Amino acid sequence: MPSPPKVHREQLIGPKRSDDHSKKTLVLDLDETLVHSSFKPIPNPDYILPVEVDGKLVDVYVLKRPWCDHFMESVGARFEVVVFTASLAKYADPLLDLLDKQQLVRWRLFRESCFPYEGNYVKDLSCLGRDLSQTIIVDNSPHSYVFQPANAVPISTFIDNMDDQELLELLPVLNELEHAPDVRTVLGANLGLRELGG
Ligand SMILES: [Mg+2]
Repeated sequence: MPSPPKVHREQLIGPKRSDDHSKKTLVLDLDETLVHSSFKPIPNPDYILPVEVDGKLVDVYVLKRPWCDHFMESVGARFEVVVFTASLAKYADPLLDLLDKQQLVRWRLFRESCFPYEGNYVKDLSCLGRDLSQTIIVDNSPHSYVFQPANAVPISTFIDNMDDQELLELLPVLNELEHAPDVRTVLGANLGLRELGG
């Protein structure tokens, strides 16, 4: 397993709010985990977001993963929710304004907060300033959590399958983790299997 860089990196988010004090931290990826976005028009977008690209405004068509709103409401009450995306803020920040109408997401982290490592944008959880025994990441890309795989709940890549139930099926898994003394003990137990492709 690759190690996080030894160089000192500043803490990416501020302290927990007092009402989040006893909650675990849930780090959520955005693209292909909660939504799928494309420049190509799609039949039923949830949002059409104008984003500036090379000095021009270009429409981005955004499709929410099924159960996204239900999922966010459920986890928003039980976890300190952080959205950590490798996308640029000029797209992801206005999208989160639309997606998170109830302001359930406490912190938003964008590409500049990722660590470039072997051609990927890694989300180094050790830079959050949170107890790693109490921190979970949900991300469709295993590269994102290559430094802390025992903190990860893998999820498949969402593009446009409107029968997708993964966010709904994740809720009981997160329920169990919510009360685990150390999430890595639960999630790490599956690691060997995962690496074998099981
Ligand atoms: Mg993703």
